[in-house]
Amino acid sequence: MSNSKYLWWNGSQMPWEDATIHVTDIGWSTVGAIFEGIRAYWNEDDQEAYVFRLPEHMKRFEQSMKLVRLEQEYSTEMLTETILELIRANEHREDIYIRPLAYRAGGAGGGFSSFSSKAGILIDTSPRPTHLKTGKKQDACVSSWTRISDNVMPPRVKNISNYRNGQLATMEANINGYDVPLLLNDQRKIAEGPGACVMMVRDGKLITPGVTDSILESITRDAILQIARDDLGLVVEERPIDRTEMYIADEAFMCGTAAEITPVVSVDRYQLGDGNVGPITSQLEDIFLGVLRGTDSRHPDWRTPVGLKQLAKA
Ligand code: PMP
Repeated sequence: MSNSKYLWWNGSQMPWEDATIHVTDIGWSTVGAIFEGIRAYWNEDDQEAYVFRLPEHMKRFEQSMKLVRLEQEYSTEMLTETILELIRANEHREDIYIRPLAYRAGGAGGGFSSFSSKAGILIDTSPRPTHLKTGKKQDACVSSWTRISDNVMPPRVKNISNYRNGQLATMEANINGYDVPLLLNDQRKIAEGPGACVMMVRDGKLITPGVTDSILESITRDAILQIARDDLGLVVEERPIDRTEMYIADEAFMCGTAAEITPVVSVDRYQLGDGNVGPITSQLEDIFLGVLRGTDSRHPDWRTPVGLKQLAKA
């Protein structure tokens, strides 16, 4: 994997190679750590990159830190500016992924119960091209693993430890020949995938589980619901979904920062629609890509310009 020139760690921008920790810090270090996954999209005509919903991601970062009781030493405003500075320093002129991470900086040997609230913070950026409109499709299954719930390990926030649940489900799905698992929550209703929310289309309506159905409060999910409602005039429902509703859905897709919109064409080998990317999914992909890249002027509040254009002029 290629790395960027610089990252930001605990207050300074530094060469990627210089950000090292001692090997004894492995172990409990990421229990309770939280992170964000953010994308920025390059617009060739504007010679500018736009970060998608940066304030919303940084607000969730703050909320995740609060939930795991990590103290926020750096203000959200400062971290936001740091991200833009880091992208400029790395001179990315492409689609990228940005990952701020906050971990318990207790030092070696503290164990999982050491209760220092001091956070170490790392931010790195790396190229990640969009896969929207590339024809990527997934075969899904319903997992035999149950999604973690609010009283177990709250899926509402982006806690690294939560991903063990999704990792088990993904391993099982992949071994059994599926691309992605859908996890049921403890009410035995559809929750989400291991790293993305799920939506389905039935009779022209766009339907997705609600934010209290054991899902991450996804920023992409929220954007797609707004696009569906406001730009496509679709009826949108946020409600519990039965497993068999997925089998008879006309269309389905995963959505999230990494997943963007990834069409799902079968669930437990029940083919959805004609087995190709459905018409509503395709329309949503078109609008979403334009909005992300800024070639579609709608939803300007969702795009934070990085400042690469000014940099090129200077
Ligand atoms: N659910 C899970 C478990 C995730 O990891 C993600 C990716 N962050 C999502 C949903 C989608 O969230 P977002 O749109 O905010 O990236």
